Amino acid sequence: MPFAALARLRDDLAQLEAQGLKRQRRLLESPQGTHIQVDGRALVSFCSNDYLGLASHPALCDAASAAAQTMGVGAGASHLITGHHAAHHAFETRFAEFVGLPAALLFSTGYMANIGVVTALLGRDGAVFGDRLNHASLNDAALLSRAKFFRYPHNDLATLDTQLAASTARQKLVLVDAVFSMDGDIAPLPALLALCERHDAWLLVDDAHGFGVLGHNGRGALSHFGLVSPRIVYMATLGKAAGVAGAVVAGAAEVIDWLVQSARTYIYTTATPPLLSATLLASMDLIESGDARRAQLQQLIQQLRDGLAGSAWQLMASDTPIQPVLIGGNIAALAASQVLLERGMLVSAIRPPTVPVNAARLRITLSAAHTQAEVAQLVVALNALQAHD
Ligand SMILES: *Cc1c(COP(=O)(O)O)cnc(C)c1O
Repeated sequence: MPFAALARLRDDLAQLEAQGLKRQRRLLESPQGTHIQVDGRALVSFCSNDYLGLASHPALCDAASAAAQTMGVGAGASHLITGHHAAHHAFETRFAEFVGLPAALLFSTGYMANIGVVTALLGRDGAVFGDRLNHASLNDAALLSRAKFFRYPHNDLATLDTQLAASTARQKLVLVDAVFSMDGDIAPLPALLALCERHDAWLLVDDAHGFGVLGHNGRGALSHFGLVSPRIVYMATLGKAAGVAGAVVAGAAEVIDWLVQSARTYIYTTATPPLLSATLLASMDLIESGDARRAQLQQLIQQLRDGLAGSAWQLMASDTPIQPVLIGGNIAALAASQVLLERGMLVSAIRPPTVPVNAARLRITLSAAHTQAEVAQLVVALNALQAHD
């Protein structure tokens, strides 16, 4: 008997390939950074989220090795059994103090943090509201919570206001990316908080791309806007600007205490290796003292935008290190990425379903570790590419 389900997968994969939607993994053969070795080639990379250039920083590598010697490598248990190491605790305390919130809780990944928070705060009698361009993990979290899930068009606060007003749910929660991961724009957090106050809702701010980059000394999106409210549950990921791995949720002490009781992605999983928390403490030092890195990043962002202004390339309205160039078609985006690759530059083509249909793009991300010469080289290549079209 032929196994029909397997044949169907084969057909589906062939179809993805034909549509330019089949994803392939590249093999990274060097540490993460702006100069990487990929599939046997030396390339300048414009597509990591390592915004401050910390992922292979010597101080962090030293902290990780030293911690391995004193703490071992495995946590060996979940946080509620015997896995909650003093290093995890020290990082949570330091993080809460840094962002000026009462308490913080470490999760293994941002994906798990979002799922844990949303499912712990809401159940069937709740309602969740999310921007259409939110990260997949926030959408999955909303579905998994079994609350009613409303999505509103990108930044359309009038629609959100109407949806919140119409809802009779016992608990309401608004989910938002502080910096939209595929567009690079910053969410209107003050206006969102005002809506949450008017409609008595929680606000979960996913600052995966803002922490370390935005705000006073890299404190993130809340600091950027000067926002303080017990309604805000703040989530930062630690594998992007912080250069390591994991995620942390911060907010009112009661929220954190409740997450320890009921966030399933916190409770039913092995704690991260404590050496990662020791490394994150070293990363916090570099983030806090990293104004020169952030100034360099801002300068490169401006250089790229100035360099492409007036060209046919359509840059999106972004002030962050995420600088997408909108192309449209999947095949065209892949072709542009391929031409840049031939010139030694790695820029990924982002296609549906990560972005809407006909909105494929080159997602350029800048790092403080890039040089002006490298950004200049990218600008020249993009402008030449346009001349060939
Ligand atoms: C990367 C990302 C996440 C997931 O974080 P991980 O730690 O990589 O699992 C969540 N939200 C947003 C907006 C992200 O960009």
